[in-house]
Order: sequence, then C-alpha cells, then structure tokens
Amino acid sequence: MRRCALCNGTAFRFSPVLWPKLIQEWKLAPHEAAHIDRQQGECCANCGANLRTIALAAALRAGFKTQEPLFQFIASGQANEISLLELNEAGGLHPLLERMSGHVFCAYPDVDMHALPFPRATFDFVVHSDTLEHVPNPVHALEECRRVLKPGGAVCYTVPVVVGRLSLDRQGLPKSYHGSPTETGDDYVVQTEFGADVWTYPYQAGFSEVRLHAIDYPAGLAISAYAT
Ligand SMILES: [Zn+2]
Repeated sequence: MRRCALCNGTAFRFSPVLWPKLIQEWKLAPHEAAHIDRQQGECCANCGANLRTIALAAALRAGFKTQEPLFQFIASGQANEISLLELNEAGGLHPLLERMSGHVFCAYPDVDMHALPFPRATFDFVVHSDTLEHVPNPVHALEECRRVLKPGGAVCYTVPVVVGRLSLDRQGLPKSYHGSPTETGDDYVVQTEFGADVWTYPYQAGFSEVRLHAIDYPAGLAISAYAT
C-alpha cells in the first residue's frame, strides 16, 4: 500500500493543476500531462503533501537513514545533528524542515543558486524543489550545491520530468512560465524542461552517485545525488 513519507497516511485526494496553455507550450501528450497533474495535484488526505513533496521526503528519509515518517523523525529531535540548506521553499516540506536546529533557509533573489554564499563543505544536505528548471545553468547550480556539501553529503531535489523524451533547453524558444507571469514576472520562466536524461545533470556537476526515488512512477520522482 502506498504511504505518505511524511505522516504514513494512506488516503489520497486529487485535483488537477495544469492549464491548457502550459500543456500546449510543453507539447505534452495527454498521459504526460496526467503524470504532472498527479505529481502536483495528488495529495495525502492527512497532511496535504503532494506526490512531489512525498517523493522528496522519501529521498531525505533515505539520506537520513531512517524508516520513520519524516514528521516523527524530525519531531523526535533525531535530525538536530544534521545541517541542511533549503533553497527556496521546498513545497510542503518547508514547515517541517524549519523545525530542525541545523536548518538554514535561503531564497531567490537574495541568494542565487549559481553563487551560494557559504564556504565549501558546510552542509550535510541541500534541498530544493522545482527550482532547478528555472535557473539558466542547472549544471553550474548543482556544482554549487556540491561545493557546499560535506563529503558524503547529498543534494535532494525535485524537478518536473517528462520521462519519455530528452531534456530540452528552452533558451531561444518562446518563454514558458510556471505560475502566472503577470504575478511573478520572469522569476518563474522555465529554462530547462527535464526529460529521461535528468540523472545525467548531477553527474555532469561532479556528483559520484545519483539515486532516483519514485512514488507512483512516473508521477512522483525525486533525485538525490551524493558527493564524495
Ligand atoms: Zn501525509
């Protein structure tokens, strides 16, 4: 039975999130649109986390080497020895990660992922969620994550992935946005549409091990990349 990695809940509810213009810009087939809708819009009925957040929680739980639901693990104080950098609000995980005493939070535009204001080997974990598709140079941004990680540390993240095709650099293509451009300006312009080669980006950035965490593949996928 599918369980929520945050709270162990087993009931889920669904409301679609994509809109026709985005589906058209991304040239998504109906089954691809359905996967992304579920990634964002299928939620744990107990804690409200969507599949994207639950997949990210599963990646973190593996990194923390615990089987406990993440709520329980963090509430128990076992995570307080862990230093963790959260870049932009990591979906529904933000209020939970904030409870860790080793938690540091930074957000764009104060902090740019291409130039993190921390010395090398500062954190055990770096976490971001649906951020990397918006940065101009995702490999460089991942190199920055690796630089600030301690040896053996990991970056855990999600991006929207269309698994049936290769990644597409949108530079030179018409602008496509997540969120409403009238509200967000260019902050949410999509720079990269990630595809089946999503796992190659952390290797290009110098990570030595990449793991994919699936919650109801391919709707909920998270990536963890380990540094040596
Ligand atoms: Zn839950």
